[in-house]
Amino acid sequence: MTADPVVPSDTVLVDALEPTDAPDAAAALTSTVALDSERAVDAVATLLRGKRAAVLTGAGLSTDSGIPDYRGEGAPKRTPMTFQTFVADERSRKRYWAGSHLGWSVFRRAEPNLGHRSLVQLESAGAIAGVITQNVDGLHTRAGSRHVVELHGSLDRVICLDCGQAFGRDSIAARLEADNPVLRDSDSIRIAPDGDADVGNIDDFVVPACTVCGGMLKPRVVFFGELVPTETFLEAAALIQAADALIVAGSSLAVNSGIRLVEQARRRKLPIIVINRGVTKGDGRALHKLEAGTSETLAALADRLLG
Ligand SMILES: [Zn+2]
Repeated sequence: MTADPVVPSDTVLVDALEPTDAPDAAAALTSTVALDSERAVDAVATLLRGKRAAVLTGAGLSTDSGIPDYRGEGAPKRTPMTFQTFVADERSRKRYWAGSHLGWSVFRRAEPNLGHRSLVQLESAGAIAGVITQNVDGLHTRAGSRHVVELHGSLDRVICLDCGQAFGRDSIAARLEADNPVLRDSDSIRIAPDGDADVGNIDDFVVPACTVCGGMLKPRVVFFGELVPTETFLEAAALIQAADALIVAGSSLAVNSGIRLVEQARRRKLPIIVINRGVTKGDGRALHKLEAGTSETLAALADRLLG
C-alpha cells in the first residue's frame, strides 16, 4: 500500500486499452506560453475564429471546483480499484462503497467553475461543437453544456451488473446511509492512507443490491480494467471527425482513450491546442501549448472569440 491522501475510490479511472507511444514532447510545438501571456491567447483566438472546435477535458478542469486532480503534477501514485477485484471480492466491494460514498458527497457539493461556464458560452455561440470529458463529476452538464460525451461515465448513476437497471445515485446514497448509520456522521469516519474508509467492522457494512433482481450494483463509471464503452468512444470520435480544431483542457492525457482522440485529430491535421499546467502526452502533437490554468484561459478565450 502506498501512502496517499484521502481519495474517493472511484475518482481514479484508467481504461485498459494498450498504451500508445506519444511522439517526443515538444517535437511539433510552436509555442509554449506562460500564464500571463496575453499574446498566446490572442494567437489561439485568431486560430479558432470561424472554426468549430471539439474540446477534451480532464481533471484539471474541475480542480477550481474543489475536486482534486489525483493524476496532476505532483500527485502521488495510488492503486485503483479494478473491475475484477470489485466483482470478485465482497470485502473490497464493501470498502469501495464506503469510500465512494464519502467521495460522492464531495462531488455532490461541487459547483461548475469559470472554465465550465466559458465552455457553455462558446458552445452557445457555435464556437465549439461539444465537450468530451474524462471527468465523472457531471459538472459540464450541470453548467449547461448540451453536447457532452462522458468517456468514463458519471458518478451520478448506478447500474445493475446483472439486469442493467439504472438507478440515481442519490437513492443509492440514501439506502447506504439507512443501512450503515456510521456513514451519517462522516466526521467519525477515518480515511486510511490508501483511500479506504475505516467504517469499523467492514463485514458489517451493507452494500445495496438491485431492487429489481437482487444483482450487484456498480457506479456507472469506467474502472481500471474496464474499457470505455464502444458507443461512447464512437460518439467522441464523431465529434472529433466533425470538428475544425481540438482543444485539450486540463488533462495530462495519461489515459489511453484521450490520447487516441488526440491522435485522431492529428491524423485529420486539425490544429490542436493544449491548455494544461504541466507536461501532457499530447504536447508533441500540439500547435499551441498553453501552460496555464483552464478557468482563466478558457474565460480569456471566450472573451476574445465572443466579445
Ligand atoms: Zn438487477
